[in-house]
Amino acid sequence: MTTKTAAAAEAAYKIWLGHTVQCAACRSIPCVTAIRLGRAWREARR
Ligand SMILES: [Zn+2]
Repeated sequence: MTTKTAAAAEAAYKIWLGHTVQCAACRSIPCVTAIRLGRAWREARR
């Protein structure tokens, strides 16, 4: 369902955003965790 997918994508995005704000390494370049979270977000967006 579209609503469920959108909610999952938003949740994944918030997790990714929360990480990038807190992670010191992500201030210069995305770390492995950020890349993995970003990939999960992209997958959830489909
Ligand atoms: Zn990070």
